[in-house]
Amino acid sequence: MTKQIYERPIIRKLETGMPGKFGMRTEYPPTTQIDGVPVKKIMEQYGSPVFILSEDTIRTTFKRAQRAFSTRYPKVQFAWSYKTNYLDAVCRIYHQEGSWAEVVSGFEYDKALHNDVDGRKIIFNGPGKSEEDLKKAIDNDSLIHIDHLDELYLLIGIAGNSSRKPRVAIRVNMDTGIYPQWDRFGFNYENGQAWDAINKIVGSGKLELTGLHTHIGTFILTPNAYAVAATKLAELATEISNKFNFSIKYIDLGGGFASRNTLKGSYLPGPDVNPTFDDYAEAISSALLNSRLDSSNLPLLILETGRALIDDAGYLAGSVVANKRLSGGKKSVILDLGVNLLFTSFWYDHKITPAQSFPLHREDTVLYGPLCMNIDVVRENISFPQLNAGDGVVVHSVGAYNMTQWMQFITMRPKVVLIDLKGNLHVIRNNESLGTVIENEIVPDYLKSV
Ligand SMILES: *Cc1c(COP(=O)(O)O)cnc(C)c1O
Repeated sequence: MTKQIYERPIIRKLETGMPGKFGMRTEYPPTTQIDGVPVKKIMEQYGSPVFILSEDTIRTTFKRAQRAFSTRYPKVQFAWSYKTNYLDAVCRIYHQEGSWAEVVSGFEYDKALHNDVDGRKIIFNGPGKSEEDLKKAIDNDSLIHIDHLDELYLLIGIAGNSSRKPRVAIRVNMDTGIYPQWDRFGFNYENGQAWDAINKIVGSGKLELTGLHTHIGTFILTPNAYAVAATKLAELATEISNKFNFSIKYIDLGGGFASRNTLKGSYLPGPDVNPTFDDYAEAISSALLNSRLDSSNLPLLILETGRALIDDAGYLAGSVVANKRLSGGKKSVILDLGVNLLFTSFWYDHKITPAQSFPLHREDTVLYGPLCMNIDVVRENISFPQLNAGDGVVVHSVGAYNMTQWMQFITMRPKVVLIDLKGNLHVIRNNESLGTVIENEIVPDYLKSV
């Protein structure tokens, strides 16, 4: 018997979805209108590509989240995560709904003040606060979440010269069963760093320990991780009250709830498998209520939810530039929107639909952006119908992070349009132009003539 030839095993990725009775389906019907406004009309008026935000979806999603928590826990406060989308109009909608502001830099802090947020309702997170940032936050009586010991010592130093005791919390990192663990921010729970920082704060006599904070990660698909986090912070709060005889005012569980987007590599679509606000609220509230916290004096529960609140309210409408067959036979489409506008396409298989009715035939297709860069892939594989150059497409659930992490790279950033509750359109951020791009550039005199 001859010896068989060894062949290395090959792992081959499954392409999109599952075939139905009639073969592969186009994922979705066309998106011809958003909140009753024709997509084609928006593109005619404001150009292609264009970001579109639905005020109705922002407000209804917020109300859904608020309800999920406030029906399960008596004291709940949301704080809008500025870095998720800090367009002023967007922030102001959340502030009108009652949200505080959660900021992670001096720039974001100033933007919250500019949006008329009361300094006492600004939560200042992040590892990179400057002395100047901290002084400003103290003057405005904001809630400062300490990230590391150097910041703690700096604060004690600044507080030494001022009459007011700064209100502080510590950020705690911990093992919640989510890996890799985000241990670069804040003080660790398991190894005692967090408890050590608490003792230093209270012992200094110069700071008022107001709360406990954690932000365990982002797009967390297991609500139980929040139950673990809530339990650990409640345990710290109980230890504080046992040792020092005072109660902290709030427990802040940060952000990180999954939106309805579909993570790359996920077999089933996000809307089918991602937890809902109710799932997260149930896990968190039960953990807090079942803890040793004094039930007659429960701390305020703060949530810094970002992406789960706004993702679905954002759309990016654009157009087909060209169809192209790749050398291996695969169909590709070039769109006028690329990863410079769609940072999240590195993580998600965004739902993308034609903006007009389309023929039945469809084919596995790769969607490229317009950049002259190999990485500019909007969808690696999508079952997509035949569209012609000039036809419209709509990318869904792009409200979070894209309007802050976008880049002015190769092309310019487009307009952002808000559809208000009456269906009226408002430009809430203008497009860039050659003028706005070069306005901060300076050409030395000797280079002025070429
Ligand atoms: C980014 C961030 C948030 C928001 O996170 P999402 O995943 O968008 O909900 C909240 N808190 C802190 C400290 C953050 O850094």
